[in-house]
Amino acid sequence: MDLTCGPFTLEGFSRSTIETYVKVNELNICFDIGKCPMSLVFVPQIFISHFHGDHSLGMTYYIAHRNLAKLDPGKIYVPASAEKAAHELIRSQAALEQARRDYELIPVEPGMELEFKRNMSMRMFATDHRIPSVGFQVIETRHKLKPEFQNLSQQEIVSLKRDGVEIVSPVRIPRMAYVGDSTIKVFDWHPEILESETLITECTFLTDDHYEEAAKRKHIHIRDIVPWLDHIKSENIVLMHFSMRYTRSEIKHHVNRWIPEQHRHRIQLLI
Ligand SMILES: [Zn+2]
Ligand SMILES: [Zn+2]
Repeated sequence: MDLTCGPFTLEGFSRSTIETYVKVNELNICFDIGKCPMSLVFVPQIFISHFHGDHSLGMTYYIAHRNLAKLDPGKIYVPASAEKAAHELIRSQAALEQARRDYELIPVEPGMELEFKRNMSMRMFATDHRIPSVGFQVIETRHKLKPEFQNLSQQEIVSLKRDGVEIVSPVRIPRMAYVGDSTIKVFDWHPEILESETLITECTFLTDDHYEEAAKRKHIHIRDIVPWLDHIKSENIVLMHFSMRYTRSEIKHHVNRWIPEQHRHRIQLLI
């Protein structure tokens, strides 16, 4: 399913226990890898939030296919605490196939930030889940003319530049945030993600009888999102990772029931 969020096209699928992946076409990255449909093999950078199978099972398939296609290994970002076991998994799979695999795992931790593309960096934050899990925030750095130079003519600017004067300063724009699996605590812990232009978040449970289960399984119930809507600045809010207990039409029905009308235009569903 494709969703348009401002300048970005998200291509993905997300259902709890089945698979979750969200490819951002314009950035050529993917959040989580699900079971790795063929289209993800050609994405050079994959950001895995945690190692529950529905988010990560396709990792060895991704590596095998990039090797077969003689592509560079690709960069797979994984929670640092899972790095060792991820290496073992990849090596075991390679041993079973009696194959040699080139691959690159990059361990990441909450609080880290790294540039994954020119002027684009990824900031990692902790989410609250049953196993170690990180969320991701895409931050673009733009260089803007400093306010004191904004009224100058083109000629004056060129001459200042020639004299080596620093006329621009960096501005950080939070473009997108991705919350894989978590409870609602993630919004409390990291209010800065609510400033992102696009917020992609799990929202596994929707009905009253599943409220306790959401807490027990460390997932978000839509009831917990509702009071946050006034604080979420994002123009696009993508809800995903719905439980398989709900049909597509039930999901739409419950989301409409819970989300107040004034916020509905910002909501999109990845189902
Ligand atoms: Zn999941
Ligand atoms: Zn999970």
